Amino acid sequence: MRLSELFGQTQRQVGRFPPEDGRHWLMRAAYLHESEAGHAWLPLGVRLRDRVWALLSAGWESALAQEVDWPWLGGSLPWRLPPAEAALLGAHVASYRQLPRLLWGQPGERLSVLVLAETPAAARERATALHARWEETLARLGMAVRRGEGAPAAGASAAVTFVASAGGQETLHCPACGYIAPAAWARRGKPEPAAEPLQPMTPVETPHANTIAALAEFLGVPESRTAKAVFLRTREAAPRLVFAVVRGDMQVSEAKLARLLGVTGLEAAAEEDIRKIGAEPGYASPVGVEGALVVVDDLIPRSPNLVAGANRSGYHFTGVNYGRDFQADVVGDIAAAEEGNPCPRCGAPLQPGRAWPLIVSQGLAHDLTYLTREGKSAPMGVAAVQADGYAILTVLAEAARREDGLAWPPQVTPYDVHLIALRGGEEAADTLYRQLKAAGVAVLYDDRKASPGVKFADADLIGLPWRVTVGKRSLKRGGAEIKPRHGEADVLPLEAVVAYLTRL
Ligand SMILES: [Zn+2]
Repeated sequence: MRLSELFGQTQRQVGRFPPEDGRHWLMRAAYLHESEAGHAWLPLGVRLRDRVWALLSAGWESALAQEVDWPWLGGSLPWRLPPAEAALLGAHVASYRQLPRLLWGQPGERLSVLVLAETPAAARERATALHARWEETLARLGMAVRRGEGAPAAGASAAVTFVASAGGQETLHCPACGYIAPAAWARRGKPEPAAEPLQPMTPVETPHANTIAALAEFLGVPESRTAKAVFLRTREAAPRLVFAVVRGDMQVSEAKLARLLGVTGLEAAAEEDIRKIGAEPGYASPVGVEGALVVVDDLIPRSPNLVAGANRSGYHFTGVNYGRDFQADVVGDIAAAEEGNPCPRCGAPLQPGRAWPLIVSQGLAHDLTYLTREGKSAPMGVAAVQADGYAILTVLAEAARREDGLAWPPQVTPYDVHLIALRGGEEAADTLYRQLKAAGVAVLYDDRKASPGVKFADADLIGLPWRVTVGKRSLKRGGAEIKPRHGEADVLPLEAVVAYLTRL
């Protein structure tokens, strides 16, 4: 590729991201264009990404892996197969004879693999093995990968590979055991409350105690002994009223709640809707309430003798116990995790940070079945693994950045050699360019009419493993100057250059 023809200009300055951010260098070196409107990969960036994808897809179960072109594989993985996609799979897989299958696609900037197997566990196992291979590959490219978890999916949390980065997404992590998850999906440890005899449910007057803090102070109990009620409405064609309950010392995570209910979103319920089902805003609890979907955090059934609203202005109940005094339609983890909360694995305080999620693997929920060897109908296993090109290239650039530009690992470099023609060496460089290309070397050829300073600075920015310079001075010294990205320059006779670079 001739630089004089390449689409994409290197930039002297980029104000958008600080130099610690890989995107700063991807933009300066003309791999990436970013603006308010979004981002776009330039030809160098696409080449880089293709090299990463080739590396990840090398050696997978080629007998099984087949490419498909399904646009939905270019978006983030859904927790449940959308109806059209489920119908597509159902139309083409009916029997155990058609399993397992590995389908891959690279629409947009994601590389996705869909695993179909005879059981959800088998699908998940293959997906996990592939995830681990990808993770090793990225680690070999110099990335400090860390395995954590993501959103709940098909009965388990998604497995996510992160790399810490100031420009990444908000996470919570545990410095003690290595647990890490996106802040929105992180779990928190929930210490088991001490068992105690159940007290009778008793109404108490609690004037002006319509917040948890006021209530706890008025009654002289810790917030952890109270139940907090939150009214929400599902965002769907026929919205449902949801009554979510967490302990008073915790917050409801709307993201977790929505995922648990299988809806895309939730919004605050109107006061009149709350009153319609017999609850009183500020003094609400699920006790005696009908007509709402009651969802309680999984800690509530284990927390005895809570203080909860009496659904009557100015009153609460003490001694409220799950099971005896109220029931839930759904019990699950709906508590938000926050900085300082105990780690769900080891109990140490969680800390906030930022990281890019690079790889995600998870099972996908669906209703698909197939006929087993025994002729019985069984649920099909569907799992997916997905690599995010934007995040991977950003983090790769962070690992590859130097003071003066990028320095790509040879396995992923968009071109192997940066050939520079200086004055007096144009003809020899042209010949060398043709020879290198003929020998199968990927060459970026700077044939522009520009000063040596500009050309060397661009070569450093773009970051290819080898720089070959041909000019009057190098010819006088015996041929072409060859310089590895990190290392001393050497002069080789022109006729030895191709052999030298193809031998590597
Ligand atoms: Zn921990």
